[in-house]
Amino acid sequence: METAQRIKALPPYLFAQIDKKIAEAKARGVDVISFGIGDPDLPTPEHIVKKLQEKAADPSTHRYPSYEGLSVYREAVANWYKRRFGVELNPDTEVVSLIGSKEGIAHLPLCYVDPGDVCLVPDPAYPVYAIGVLFAGGESYKMPLLEENGFLPDLEAIPADVAKKAKILYLNYPNNPTGAVADKEFFQKAVEFAKTYDIIVCHDAAYTEIAFDGYKPISFLEVPGAMDVGIEFHSLSKTYNMTGWRVGWAAGNADIVSALGRIKTNIDSGIFEALQYAGIEALEGSQDCIDENMKVYTHRRDLLVEGLKKLGWPIEKPKATIYVWAPVPAGMNSTDFAALLLDKAGVVVTPGIGYGESGEGYFRMSLTLPTERLEEGLRRIEEAGIRYA
Ligand SMILES: *Cc1c(COP(=O)(O)O)cnc(C)c1O
Repeated sequence: METAQRIKALPPYLFAQIDKKIAEAKARGVDVISFGIGDPDLPTPEHIVKKLQEKAADPSTHRYPSYEGLSVYREAVANWYKRRFGVELNPDTEVVSLIGSKEGIAHLPLCYVDPGDVCLVPDPAYPVYAIGVLFAGGESYKMPLLEENGFLPDLEAIPADVAKKAKILYLNYPNNPTGAVADKEFFQKAVEFAKTYDIIVCHDAAYTEIAFDGYKPISFLEVPGAMDVGIEFHSLSKTYNMTGWRVGWAAGNADIVSALGRIKTNIDSGIFEALQYAGIEALEGSQDCIDENMKVYTHRRDLLVEGLKKLGWPIEKPKATIYVWAPVPAGMNSTDFAALLLDKAGVVVTPGIGYGESGEGYFRMSLTLPTERLEEGLRRIEEAGIRYA
């Protein structure tokens, strides 16, 4: 059976080579230490698990949920936005529940992108932006995220004829994979750009609660005018160690939220209501679990960054996210460097090229592995004689 063009057009899976090498190393009996995956290793806080258990036992949660989410869930999201960012949201029209934010991000282009339309996609980036555009028949115009620009896209460098054709501008701060953060001034520029060219801003805010040293990331929706042009995607996945649960939301401009809701009514049937109650518990219960997480991540970040610096890496501590983004040593590409680390140290990192062409020359290390494994990984890199310079 022939697959559709959209499947054939999928970019090659760039981690295939490294995945094969990992499987081979494991088969040889190598104790592989993976810094590759951005998936919290710490468990979901107990009070959230308890709420799911309690609500799962209540038959009133067993039937089809409403596609847009329980009104109490959307109210909890709106209240959280108010408390956390000072942003006022109408829970009935400006919030929609999602089966994890990835689901909503992937479906958004179906609302606004016709075949041949252009979307502005950062590079390097979470692959779902460009894939969603591709599935809707659109084309991605890649905006390089360069270190000299603080890994922010240079909106002024986008040719006017491209901007005029563009439908969606994707942003993600705090950023995966670079760990970069954005300030109000940058978001303000994005709002002005979007208004000039009549473009929707899709901000992926998955990491706003994973920030270090007292830094508080902002919401795109805090910026004046953002509600006219923007939609922000968020989820419980990273904040509350709930990646497996699949609970998220989108919030922002009512027309965009409603368009996404219309696509979703025709595709899925919402989130298990017991899960939504657990989500409310996450947002409204004790937030001490976030501080505890951040203590662990801060310790790991410091160990990792200081360990790499000792080996010559010219890097700073990231202000947010669970990632350290670092340059590969001169004369190597990111794929070869990842292979070298695996062969010589049994350590897995993700090569930057996997996040787009502008990710070449870098690799990403995640903080979501037990601290003693992180230390062991660093030790092995040092013992293998691998240095930046
Ligand atoms: C982890 C992550 C998400 C969250 O995905 P969920 O589907 O909500 O689990 C979204 N965007 C980025 C950039 C991520 O790294």
